[in-house]
Amino acid sequence: MEFKKIVLKKKEEILAEIKQISEDTLKKSQKEASGDISGYTYHMADVATDNYDREFSLVLASNERELLFAIDEALKKIEEGTFGICEDCKSLIAKNRLKALPYAPLCVKCQSKKEKK
Ligand SMILES: [Zn+2]
Repeated sequence: MEFKKIVLKKKEEILAEIKQISEDTLKKSQKEASGDISGYTYHMADVATDNYDREFSLVLASNERELLFAIDEALKKIEEGTFGICEDCKSLIAKNRLKALPYAPLCVKCQSKKEKK
């Protein structure tokens, strides 16, 4: 199916982005940790790891995590055969919209209604 390929490709992109973010965050944490040359170095390294975990989950909690969730939902819908149907009004979502946003759960009408609220 055509959309499955698009959605899977999008998922790969998001996963690559997440990997990039986590690598950047790790590098930053390591830089901060190595800046400490006192006797607390080992202790500081532990703290840095804690900070890193927290930062990482904070970053992931935002856009990418939501996107990944939406993408998995879209893949589930493809399997179930309900892909491309608006979750709100149950009408078919325009193909052009799905091509741009294959994981969109709502049609344009329902989406703009939701955003106005
Ligand atoms: Zn709708």
